[in-house]
Amino acid sequence: MATRLLILGGTTEARALAARIAALPNYSAVLSLAGRTVSPLAQAVPVRVGGFGGVAGLTAYLKAERIDALVVATHPFAARIAENATLAARDAGIPAVRLLRPPWTPGAGDDWRLFPSLESLVERLGETPRRLLVTIGRQEAHAFAAAPHHSYWFRSIEPIEPPLRLPNAEFLLERGPFTIEDEIALLSRHRIDVLVTKNSGGDATRAKLDAARALGIPVLMVDRPPASGLSEVGTVDAVLDFLDHHAPPAERGA
Ligand code: NAP
Repeated sequence: MATRLLILGGTTEARALAARIAALPNYSAVLSLAGRTVSPLAQAVPVRVGGFGGVAGLTAYLKAERIDALVVATHPFAARIAENATLAARDAGIPAVRLLRPPWTPGAGDDWRLFPSLESLVERLGETPRRLLVTIGRQEAHAFAAAPHHSYWFRSIEPIEPPLRLPNAEFLLERGPFTIEDEIALLSRHRIDVLVTKNSGGDATRAKLDAARALGIPVLMVDRPPASGLSEVGTVDAVLDFLDHHAPPAERGA
């Protein structure tokens, strides 16, 4: 019998893992999405959508669906679901692993300032009006309502809801990947003097950091939330290694 996986997704990494698993006869998988994206990309395995109802709901799902192993491949900043998954896997008595893309790290010429939260970052924007490109997704964008004297360009895949009312704000709806040429053009066109982002990591959206360095623009960055306590791996291959060791198809039911 195949090992049955639940993949908590919503990321490029989860999608890549699902594509690999779909081609392996010893595994079957369900991919779970929170349901935030109106038009999610197609996936290679069956998809379920929506929250589980906290730790208890997720534990019940793992048991009812006879899930053998849990892979947490959610966004690095999705802290609650990672914590819930840690507890639910323990309660259900199954192995769990987190597939987490490595954080970005600054190099020579980068001017990065790190903040523990978006609120603390907004507090430090200061009184002098600035021109900010904000690429933090749409879920927390309302934190900038506390600093309405700046000029903003918000970039997100889908619109910020409810609409964010600020005197000087434009909303750019775009999905990466972005090239460094595109990013330099965007920063130059709007005379951006601060880039605001969070340390999501990954290649699809890293060009903005290279563009900021090239133009000498400072980057204000929200740091990663604390680790979930799960074993963390950085690649799809490492997830498969983990599963081979902790939930091998041949041993189950023996
Ligand atoms: P979160 O704060 O950690 O999770 C909030 C709640 O959303 C969870 O308690 C859970 O509800 C539900 N949820 C989250 N991910 C889920 C999944 N894959 N399947 C089913 N339910 C899920 O997470 P978030 O920041 O709202 O992010 C939601 C989703 O968007 C995640 O899948 C994440 O990968 C993706 N995402 C997040 C960010 C970000 O910056 N936070 C960026 C890009 C994509 P219940 O407690 O009811 O189970």
